[in-house]
Amino acid sequence: MTASKFNQPLGGNEMPRFGGIATMMRLPHVDGAKGLDVGFVGVPFDIGTSNRGGSRFGPRQIRAESCLIRPYNMATRAAPFDSLQVADIGDIAINTFNLQKSVAIIEAAYDEILAADCKPLTLGGDHTISLPILRALHKQHGPVGIVHIDAHADINDHMFGEPVAHGTPFRRAIEEGLIEPARMVQIGLRASGYEADDFDWPRSQGVRVVQAEECWYRSLAPLMGEVREQLGDGPVYLTFDIDGLDPAYAPGTGTPEIGGLTVHQGLEIIRGCRGLDLVGGDLVEVAPAYDTSGNTALTAANLLFEMLCVLPGVEYRTG
Ligand code: MN
Ligand code: MN
Repeated sequence: MTASKFNQPLGGNEMPRFGGIATMMRLPHVDGAKGLDVGFVGVPFDIGTSNRGGSRFGPRQIRAESCLIRPYNMATRAAPFDSLQVADIGDIAINTFNLQKSVAIIEAAYDEILAADCKPLTLGGDHTISLPILRALHKQHGPVGIVHIDAHADINDHMFGEPVAHGTPFRRAIEEGLIEPARMVQIGLRASGYEADDFDWPRSQGVRVVQAEECWYRSLAPLMGEVREQLGDGPVYLTFDIDGLDPAYAPGTGTPEIGGLTVHQGLEIIRGCRGLDLVGGDLVEVAPAYDTSGNTALTAANLLFEMLCVLPGVEYRTG
């Protein structure tokens, strides 16, 4: 076997999978995004959380549980490490005593990542972090389309009087023009709300809202065909709140809601993003303290791998 010019995940025959320093997918850890096509980034931030805390530990746990992921996608035949230079660029040093300062720190860090022409795949952290990421993306790409998987719409006008928290990022992002609402879809929304028409605000902005009940008992592959058509050729950001999945699969999260998506549906959504011009993605709201089996972080790690597998430029080994 000839040595690849691209970084490869450390194999299980080189170091036991439970050994070594925990990086995402056992990739090299590098300083800065220069020279990378894709960077896994941790944002250990949970000070925008409204109920159970602890997603500050998400990046570490996702890295730990990612140790089992091998380089090839056996379902789709994606071979991301054949054509993309990928590494773990570590965590953003947020100021955990100050939410607004942390949001500015995150935006500045993503400015740098994007300036290096590196696509960020982010290990959260609570959903607040998508707002500064979208602010940075806007400077590079203009308004983006969004595929948003979540139990919640995250379009509150404020939380406890605060304009920036984990329940408000998409309200702010739409107001700030960071998103093209007509190129946004929210999937998996459900449960109880403050008002019966809570999910109608995004609809009034032109967002397609697919409530969880519309997904029950179904493959989401046909939906994703419609989503690809709706989102078209422009830049798209993929944001996956792990609470979009049912708490049976992902109990380790801060605001769990029953009746959610299955893991299979989560895979169908991400795999259905293949062909879109994805400019980055995040996986947020993993709170390891409530994740006694590790399955939530394991699922999160695999969903991040699936995101990597649908980025533009990935080669597929079709045999
Ligand atoms: Mn969310
Ligand atoms: Mn949520």
